[in-house]
Amino acid sequence: MRVLIVEDEKRLAEVVSAGLIAEGYGVDVAHDGDTGLTMARNTRYDAILLDIMLPGINGYQVCQRLRAEDDQTPVIMLTAKDGEYDEAEGLDTGADDYLTKPFSFVVLQARLRAVMRRRGSGLAPTVWRLGDLVIDPAARTCQRGDVPIAMTAREFAVLEYLASRNGEVVSKTEILEHVWDFAYDGDVNIVEVYVSNLRRKIDAPFGRGAITTQRGAGYKLAADGG
Ligand code: CA
Repeated sequence: MRVLIVEDEKRLAEVVSAGLIAEGYGVDVAHDGDTGLTMARNTRYDAILLDIMLPGINGYQVCQRLRAEDDQTPVIMLTAKDGEYDEAEGLDTGADDYLTKPFSFVVLQARLRAVMRRRGSGLAPTVWRLGDLVIDPAARTCQRGDVPIAMTAREFAVLEYLASRNGEVVSKTEILEHVWDFAYDGDVNIVEVYVSNLRRKIDAPFGRGAITTQRGAGYKLAADGG
């Protein structure tokens, strides 16, 4: 899941970004409205955290322009204090939710998951079931049959993305774009390492092969057994 943070308070942007990265999100940051709008136009994000008072165009205008271009990426407005956010105006511009600063990281994550689920155009289920493999993005748990499977936040993020596209071939580049961030300029083959870890956890111990490699194209996650 890839998130854009548009926030001119650099310290806050850094803290939120670091927290989300630790949870396995890919994160990009913009410090003014125009840059944020450009980034949102050029990349498909799973959600945007949008401060209201920004240098250049403000958060309301960024949101309004995206919606005018029929970009339905979930947007959570960040507001400095009660009263700054005009709910009517926010809803007019097409924002999905808002958070008053200072907010707790746990609340932020819950809101992010909620708006992403709501915007899943009814396609994103609360829980993915692929045979006996069960992936719960909200609880961030995975199990095969009755056996819980432990994994790192990043491994879970890769699995979650594959599950959201289940049955489709997903390229390493797509996985990299959704799970890592712009700051990552390393080898796309890092994805192989994570997919191989996932196979060792969700498939090998159970004699399954839910993740298949489509040579030269990418990976596919599908039900296998159960
Ligand atoms: Ca601000």
